Amino acid sequence: MEALGYYSDQTRSDVRIDTAIAAAEYEQRAVNSHHAATLVAIHEVLSEARFSPEVFVGDHASRHSSHDVEFSERSAIADLAVRLSLSETTIHAHEHQAVTMIGRTPLTWQKFRWGEVSAANARTVSELAASLPDGDDGMFAAFDAAVAEHATQLAPARFRASARKLREQIVADTAAERHESQLSQRRVVFEPDIDGMAWISAYLPAEVATAALSLVDSEALRLSAVPGETRTMPQLRADVLGGMITGFGGAGSGSAGFGSAGSVAVRVGVLIPMLTLLGKSEMPASLEGYGPIDAETARTLAGDATSIYRILTDPVTGAILDIDQPTKHIPTGLRRMRQLIDQTCTFPGCGKRAVHCDLDHTIDRQFGGRTSLMNLSHLCRSHHRNKHNTKWTITQDDAGRIEWTSPTGHVAAPDPPPF
Ligand SMILES: [Zn+2]
Repeated sequence: MEALGYYSDQTRSDVRIDTAIAAAEYEQRAVNSHHAATLVAIHEVLSEARFSPEVFVGDHASRHSSHDVEFSERSAIADLAVRLSLSETTIHAHEHQAVTMIGRTPLTWQKFRWGEVSAANARTVSELAASLPDGDDGMFAAFDAAVAEHATQLAPARFRASARKLREQIVADTAAERHESQLSQRRVVFEPDIDGMAWISAYLPAEVATAALSLVDSEALRLSAVPGETRTMPQLRADVLGGMITGFGGAGSGSAGFGSAGSVAVRVGVLIPMLTLLGKSEMPASLEGYGPIDAETARTLAGDATSIYRILTDPVTGAILDIDQPTKHIPTGLRRMRQLIDQTCTFPGCGKRAVHCDLDHTIDRQFGGRTSLMNLSHLCRSHHRNKHNTKWTITQDDAGRIEWTSPTGHVAAPDPPPF
């Protein structure tokens, strides 16, 4: 165990405990206060980026051009994300939190700055305050006054429950409008888990979600009554749902009662080391958009594959054999290979899947760039526009990896390759 520094061995144990508790309280307040200070600093960088776009976009940029201001902000968010090892979404959320709390809940914000409110409770306050109708200063003040004390006293879950209730009381009679606005937030979320598993979930109107679940339930129930069925209800529900969406049938064991009729063609990319494919090695493969999967599953998927691209790599460095094309046209094979190699947008930390990204010439063709594996990479629309509209620059090394340099001079190493 690490040596503790808050007391000496000669002290009585009750005093040592008191001292350590006081230290924990002090440090926790410092953490809260530092967190608030981080939000302020991020807000300052972005305010400055909007005011002085020339730093991030180039000398020609002007604060009177909304295009320049927008790209300066995007570029600064990317810069902060890379330096702080946070996602751009988080940087954006941090600034949004600072702006929301300073503008709508100044009382709670002050307590957060002093360290009296935890980061978790501050986030709850900002989320709920942001959901109040714009411009209603009376409502902001009422909410701020109602939550400020509780925010310093309650643990996160209890505080969240209490703050939600206070918010409901303040925004009476707007349930229909609130539902309407949340409806526009509907989406599907994919979340890789370990051991070759992943979660897929959807944010849907309650009536649609309930109807979908009841459909899955009734089909699972029907299957559970089939003689010889050994799967549990949770397993059956999962198999039925997966089968409905992909047309793959019951994942793994037996049929879930859904053929491929009527389903759309599904394309799944898998990177498999050659020795694994030949059954001479158990080195894990990589499933596109997910990550490592076990060798046996990979071989099963490869057995069902209708097309296989070979990508030869250096077994030591992982560098890829180049393929060149004389024309600007990017053939499907080359495009597909680069997709499998990149898997996501090549900006550090960006998780946008390569299939949804632009395939960009690192060195533009008008400057002599080739249409080759080593001069192409995937950039999501947002980072592609950052590359062309701001002072972010990229270079590509011999292994095809992309290195980004921020407008303020920070060099971001490429994320590790999937193989
Ligand atoms: Zn990106």
